[in-house]
Amino acid sequence: MTLTGQRYSVLGLARSGLAAANALAERGADVVASDLRTSEALSDYLAQLHPAVDVRLGGNHYRPGDVVIVSPGLKPHHPIFAEMRNTGCEVIGEVELFVRLKRPTTPILAVTGTDGKSTTTSWLGTIVSADRNCWIGGNIGIALCAGLEHITDHTVVAEISNAQLISTPSFHPNVAVVTNIAPDHLDYHGGFDGYVAAKRHILTHLTNEDAAILNATDPIIQTWNAPRVVWFGQKYGDEYVAITENTLSACVGDFDGPIIDIRELQLPGPHNAQNAMAATAAALAHGISIHAIQTGLRNFSGLAHRLEFVREHDGVRYYNDSKATNPHASMAGLKAFEGQRLVAIAGGSEKNADFSDWAELASQTCHHMVLCGTTATRLADALGGRVPITMADTLEDALKAANGVVRNDGVVVLSPACASFDQFENFEHRGDVFRQLVRSLTSNA
Ligand code: ADP
Repeated sequence: MTLTGQRYSVLGLARSGLAAANALAERGADVVASDLRTSEALSDYLAQLHPAVDVRLGGNHYRPGDVVIVSPGLKPHHPIFAEMRNTGCEVIGEVELFVRLKRPTTPILAVTGTDGKSTTTSWLGTIVSADRNCWIGGNIGIALCAGLEHITDHTVVAEISNAQLISTPSFHPNVAVVTNIAPDHLDYHGGFDGYVAAKRHILTHLTNEDAAILNATDPIIQTWNAPRVVWFGQKYGDEYVAITENTLSACVGDFDGPIIDIRELQLPGPHNAQNAMAATAAALAHGISIHAIQTGLRNFSGLAHRLEFVREHDGVRYYNDSKATNPHASMAGLKAFEGQRLVAIAGGSEKNADFSDWAELASQTCHHMVLCGTTATRLADALGGRVPITMADTLEDALKAANGVVRNDGVVVLSPACASFDQFENFEHRGDVFRQLVRSLTSNA
């Protein structure tokens, strides 16, 4: 597809903005790209930018009447949206651009939800790859527009965040998975209703030739509908994937029967069993073979920072769940250790989450909690003395404190329930630091 002479403005020059600007410039479009940041902060991205792109730094710059590709970092209530529309711009996101530029025949299996997106996307990708050419990207790994040059006869498995769903008016995946819905990113959407509506938008264009893969155990999603739904989590509706007594079985299309014993899965915890069911339902609905589903379910060993096993040391097992950046995700991780002697390290930067349910569960599952970060005091208040706590200033101190109270046969998990921006660049940085600290533990430490 050539776009010669067509005018686009790109706001935000990080991962997805860079991919969008390059895809447009490669097709001959006239592209202006801007970012609030300086050239030093953006040097890695600028080095990869197509030379034909006109770069303006230090502010948001768009041309009236252009199609504007907005960064998912720009909050939907930002006044610039109204300004752009008032000057005749069409405002879309990078996912929408991908949909417009991709081959019409390329199928998309999309995954959204509050938690479990990356795990489910990667697991589904592993399954699909066992059956046919598959390209995995979106909010995980490579931006979709950067995949345009690689995608030929591939099935695309895409993680789509809530922010990416805002400016995607014509997004029409063949399969749309919604893992679960819990309060998160409320600042971004101006409240829970806006967040739920953004997630639900993934179902807007589905027909009965497509499939919605919906969580039958989630009180919000349970009430949703689509022309064809495969439910996961429990028997529900005509088509479903459920687990009974360790057997994951499915009733989807022509298939009705057992698929795998979940004790063969490498990932721990009931939440990962949910992710396995979601991935299975999506694969079955898309016609992936049972053999590939079984192979992919077995072979997937999980992602870094998601309840990642780091090591066993002096009889203690250490797990890095740095990606548990909200209470809902942290609760899922803590539940995976029910019945074990668990010491959890929690706390991080503030995003005004409600910690009451988290505190209830944490006080039932943890023998001790070590709290650090900006939210430490709020977490301590929420726990209200129901579990012993130690306050720590840094992650290093927190690990020392955890080691001081954990016993042989116990578990230490980094399960922050909060974002990481108070002391770290991002959750990966936090998890890397934790992993390194754990790896450098010596027996006398
Ligand atoms: P996302 O991409 O939605 O953030 P991830 O797969 O990266 O999801 O997992 C993020 C965190 O959420 C991890 O800490 C993990 O323990 C937890 N988690 C994973 N799957 C689920 C699930 N199905 N329900 C609740 N929490 C989950």
